[in-house]
Amino acid sequence: MNRKLTGPVVIATHNPGKLAEMRALLSPFGIEARSAAELGLPEPAETGKTFAANARIKALAAAKATGQVAFADDSGLVVDTLGGAPGVHSARWAGPERDFRAAMNKIQTLLVERGAHDPAQRRAHFVAALCLAWPDGHKEEFEGRVDGVLVWPPRGDKGFGYDPLFQPDGFDRTFGEMSAEEKHGLPPRGQGLSHRARAFMKLAQACLPHEPNGSRSL
Ligand code: IMP
Repeated sequence: MNRKLTGPVVIATHNPGKLAEMRALLSPFGIEARSAAELGLPEPAETGKTFAANARIKALAAAKATGQVAFADDSGLVVDTLGGAPGVHSARWAGPERDFRAAMNKIQTLLVERGAHDPAQRRAHFVAALCLAWPDGHKEEFEGRVDGVLVWPPRGDKGFGYDPLFQPDGFDRTFGEMSAEEKHGLPPRGQGLSHRARAFMKLAQACLPHEPNGSRSL
């Protein structure tokens, strides 16, 4: 039996973009959210080897520090031919300047070095791990994944990070060419395409008290 989330949560992130996105996800369910940054909490080192481990580290640290339920996510791009890289290092590959053009170039260079020109050799997936942690150590964990192929050159300027490189299976456009609604939108308005939308739908089903009003997207 999953534990339900009934009161306010602390969002275990110092990233304003993630905070806004997570707040928007939770508010249709009547869940209020404050962030770790607003509460002046330190950022724990993301030393996990998996997305789930890093989400757990962040959520447990915030739950312990505040005595409240905490919510964290961790995500990234996994490229089959590169042995799973950049994986949990997806943000780090863009460097302190957050230069994702350079990170995409690095992936393409490594793929070309390995002779990966055909779509079959350019398979990749995005993963999002979500963790809700309670002060007593109880955890609820969910993962979402979307599979696709890496195109070259990158296409589209609508998303962020590696979006222009990634074309999900069943589509002829990259995430960078899709609207936020198409990429992240939840049913009934969207189909819950992205890894984050898929993980959140699992969490909502298991732990949120009631269905949202249907007019929101991730
Ligand atoms: P973290 O979850 O903050 O550790 O970083 C995740 C990193 O993975 C981001 O900085 C992006 O580089 C990449 N990433 C995660 N989700 C997406 C996505 O939906 N589109 C593009 N890049 C993503």
